[in-house]
Amino acid sequence: MRFLAFIPHRHRWHEINITRQGAVSPNGRTYLSTYITASCKSCGEMIHRIYYRDISDEQARRWLG
Ligand SMILES: [Zn+2]
Repeated sequence: MRFLAFIPHRHRWHEINITRQGAVSPNGRTYLSTYITASCKSCGEMIHRIYYRDISDEQARRWLG
C-alpha cells in the first residue's frame, strides 16, 4: 500500500469530515467557514482544508476533487 504514495494518482478521499466554525481568513475578517479533513484511500495522505464560506457537504466533496 505505502509505495503507492510515490506514484502519481488521483487521490481517493475517504473518511471525509466536514465541520463549520468561524475562521479568520488571510484578509483578517472572520467568516463562518467550512473545515474539511479527509484521507486518501490509496496512499494515506491526510488533507485539512478551510473554505472561507459556509458551503454544503456536497459542494465540499466536489471541491476535494
Ligand atoms: Zn493518494
